[in-house]
Amino acid sequence: MTVARASGTVDPQAAEEGTIQLARPVIGAAEELAVLEVLRSGQLSLGPRLAEFEHEFARRLGAAHASAVSSGTAGLHLALRAVGVSDGDEVVTSPLSFVASANAIVYERARPVFADIDPVTLNLDPAAARAAVTPRTVAILPVHVFGYPADVPALEGLGLAIVEDACEALGAVHADGVAVGARGHPSVFGFYPNKQLTTGEGGMVTTGDASVKRRIDSERNQGRAPDMGWLDHDRLGFNYRLSDIACALGLAQLQRLDQMLADRARVAELYRQALSGIEGLTLPCPDAGGDRRGWFVFVVQLPHGCDRDLTVKALAARGVQTKPYLPAIHLMSYYRESFGHRPGEFPVCEDVAARSLALPFFPGLSEGQVDRVATELRGALGR
Ligand SMILES: *Cc1c(COP(=O)(O)O)cnc(C)c1O
Repeated sequence: MTVARASGTVDPQAAEEGTIQLARPVIGAAEELAVLEVLRSGQLSLGPRLAEFEHEFARRLGAAHASAVSSGTAGLHLALRAVGVSDGDEVVTSPLSFVASANAIVYERARPVFADIDPVTLNLDPAAARAAVTPRTVAILPVHVFGYPADVPALEGLGLAIVEDACEALGAVHADGVAVGARGHPSVFGFYPNKQLTTGEGGMVTTGDASVKRRIDSERNQGRAPDMGWLDHDRLGFNYRLSDIACALGLAQLQRLDQMLADRARVAELYRQALSGIEGLTLPCPDAGGDRRGWFVFVVQLPHGCDRDLTVKALAARGVQTKPYLPAIHLMSYYRESFGHRPGEFPVCEDVAARSLALPFFPGLSEGQVDRVATELRGALGR
């Protein structure tokens, strides 16, 4: 299918010729048709696709309920409110995450209390999390970083509310066979275009508790009653709705999710082979103990002593897009200035964050492209 482009605009495909991109969504005729149907129906928001998308998503995970929201960040905000996080509370969380997981805590005037990560899985270390608990702690917010299941079963032993940031972990499964996001705690997924499933922008909160779903459904829609039958607002709400256009896109993506996840796993395996034997390079941890990763990104840690920023530049010059991923949240200017953080507090996280590099990773990446990335990386590292 050809898509007409306005004259004078740059064709991104042509501009990227030769460059291997970091991420790329899988969008085909099914998505186009699904969106077109909604556009033609005249009901662009709060239509039939919303409940369908929620139902199908929950069913896929084995979760009791799901609420679609406008972004993963919006979902984290509403999930934290739903477990009662508010002024002055502390929430223990991982410093190795996308900044949204900590920001959502600050939205409710609560304090993100970081605890260091496990050096292998890169997820919140349960022992460090336990040590960070104080009488003010009301919740734990583990992040399933890079799609690898966080040790939620261990955190459950702390007896505190849990909100899971599963924005990177669609398709991941815990050792006990329960899908990430289906343990009953409010769990948040994100649908930005680089995620396993995209709606352009969007998110989903799964929960085992019907009252949590009711509260989130109301708060995403200005605090209105679920039946919309009245316009009184008995609680503070937001506009965190997800349009029917986006929900239709999500439904089409769910249809191809198994294939997309399998393709990501295939690309990860190709990388593992192509990158083996580079001295000092750390690859993503393999699945262990029955936990299964839902592949989201392929992040390597460069050998100690390597200049990461120079490596990024050298790879860009060789036509390979990469990104330092993820930076440590506590060392970001806002968190340093507002919460007094400084280097040295979370040594495992800081070491990983300083050396991490995300390589091009998406379902359509070919074996030839993976080999080229590996060759260019070896060249850039001088190995
Ligand atoms: C993507 C992501 C989010 C949410 O992002 P949105 O852009 O708001 O959908 C939250 N946490 C993590 C760890 C993420 O990777």
